[in-house]
Amino acid sequence: MARTSRPSRYAIAQYWAQHEHRFVCDLGEPECFACGYWNEHWDDKKSPRERWNRARLERAHIIADSIGGSCEVENFLLLCRQCHREAPMTNSRELMLAWARNREAHISKIFRELSFALPRAGVTEKDIERFDALDHKLFRRRFKKHLRQLQFDRHPHQFGLMGDCDTAACVLKDFITQETNRN
Ligand SMILES: [Zn+2]
Repeated sequence: MARTSRPSRYAIAQYWAQHEHRFVCDLGEPECFACGYWNEHWDDKKSPRERWNRARLERAHIIADSIGGSCEVENFLLLCRQCHREAPMTNSRELMLAWARNREAHISKIFRELSFALPRAGVTEKDIERFDALDHKLFRRRFKKHLRQLQFDRHPHQFGLMGDCDTAACVLKDFITQETNRN
């Protein structure tokens, strides 16, 4: 009998761990198959099964069920919300897999977007030098505190660099100015 309910995230991860290293390079570290996005809170749980099943990754059909795609484990990828939204609608398995393999890495996308956002926010080379001299652990703590002080409308944990690069650049400019005045 054909499967009618979707497999668990962990079942999908296990399948791809055996078939494509590019998608799952470490069964203990959940991440988007296409862009490598991950969240540090996903690692809170002890077992790989709990980690994957708890991770905010969406089960994306390779071939949509509306055009006859199955609910078998090999017809799914685990994608972050953005990749799932931007994935092609296709009836070609190979096309979908090629798309996922060649998707730009989350981290490189952030660097690219930030490199445009920083000058827009007035962050100069000198600011970046100042920032490099700061203690980065301290920076993480202060940055969150700073976000709260600004009464930012989101909790710092919900602040994601993807899509928030301009805001991050403005906050960074503000932060560097404040820290420079402090010293
Ligand atoms: Zn992704």
